[in-house]
Parts: sequence; C-alpha cells; structure tokens
Amino acid sequence: MSNEFHWTCPFCNRDTTITEERLHSTWTDLTISNADGPRRLTSRFIICPNPQCQKTTLSVSLHVLEKNQFDQPRTGKCLRQWHLIPASRALAFPDYVPQSIINDYNEACLIQDTSTKASATLSRRCLQGIIRDFWKVKPGRLIDEIEQIKDKIDPLTWEAIDSVRKVGNIGAHMEKDIDLIVDVDPNEAELLIGLIETLIRDWYIAREDRKTRLLKIKQVADQKDQAKKGTVRAP
Ligand SMILES: [Zn+2]
Repeated sequence: MSNEFHWTCPFCNRDTTITEERLHSTWTDLTISNADGPRRLTSRFIICPNPQCQKTTLSVSLHVLEKNQFDQPRTGKCLRQWHLIPASRALAFPDYVPQSIINDYNEACLIQDTSTKASATLSRRCLQGIIRDFWKVKPGRLIDEIEQIKDKIDPLTWEAIDSVRKVGNIGAHMEKDIDLIVDVDPNEAELLIGLIETLIRDWYIAREDRKTRLLKIKQVADQKDQAKKGTVRAP
C-alpha cells in the first residue's frame, strides 16, 4: 500500500509529494482503563524533499483507539491535533492577497489545535471573504454565495467546495448565520483550512501569474514592434 500524499511545506511553500523516505511516524497506545476510553497518540515527522529546504515538520495527534474485525488495534477518529514545528501550519501568501483574508486564515491556523470551533468559524469568515472579494457576489448566507459562483468557477473547484460543505457540521456552518459557532472536529477544521489554501492558490495566485505572463508577452511583442518600426524608419 502506498502512503504517498500531497503536502505543502510550511517553511518553503513548495508543493510536493511525500513518500515513505520523508516520513517518520510512530504511535503509542493507552490501554489502561480510564474514563475517556482507549487512546492512540501518533507523532509524525515530515522532512521537506526540497534540497534547498529539508526542514523538519512535527505534529502529533490524539485518536480513539479502535479494534478492527480481527481484534487488532487501529487508529480511530482524530480527537486533537497539535502542530509542534512550526507552531502554526499557516503558509506565507503573497501581498496581493487581501490582508483581511490573510489575517483570518493565519488566525484560523494558529488556533486550529486549541479551538477547532473558533478556527472553523474564522475559516468560514475567510471563505466568505474570498468569495465576496474575488467574485463580487451579492452578500447573503455563505451557502447562497457559493451557489452564485457555481457557473463561474471550474467544475472541479466547485466539487471540492461542495464536498467540503457536505462534511459533518461544516454544512451547518455554511447555512447558518456568520455569528453562530458550530461544533466541528479537528479533521473538519483541517479540511476547511485546506480548502482556503487551495482557493487562494487557484484564484488569487493563478490570476496574478496569468497577469504577469501576459504582461511579459505584451512587453516582448511591444519591443519587437518598436524594433521593427525602428528598422522601417532607418534609411
Ligand atoms: Zn520546505
């Protein structure tokens, strides 16, 4: 079974695929009878494959310890997650992404481990901020605003937003008033943050990259044009 997964390094921002050689993960099981039930604590080191970076990221997570059909212990639902190195998983985004969006995103990442509820609330506000700013939608409930951009965005992005919307309590989050705080589990908070990162990349960064590329083409064309005019004018 392949354990490869897509990952963005919080130090160098490079998008990579993490293979087994770059991942060190271990766990310890709590089996002493207790009021909360059996638990598994997993630790995960990831080493960035970018030769210029090679930084170590460390996170630990607490799970329900379950039994599989053969009575073997296995990792269950994630209860808590802690990003130890770096302390926040927040990626550094360029300055042209609106500051209010970056602020909400950074804050959502910072408190993701300590308060998933508050983190998800900030993520929702951030998501709404992105949709309003980028697509100039008519303000309403987040779910209605998402509906407004359905025909404007590429189908895959729409499906991603739609599938995140359907996970657990996130849907309730998007249907309710912005001030309402809804309970979410750590995986849901993580999913929302991942969605925000994707949208910032796919919309703001892609738009800026496109602009830069087109300007470059125009510049080169203009220079050629100037040079041509120059030769025409020359006797
Ligand atoms: Zn890196």
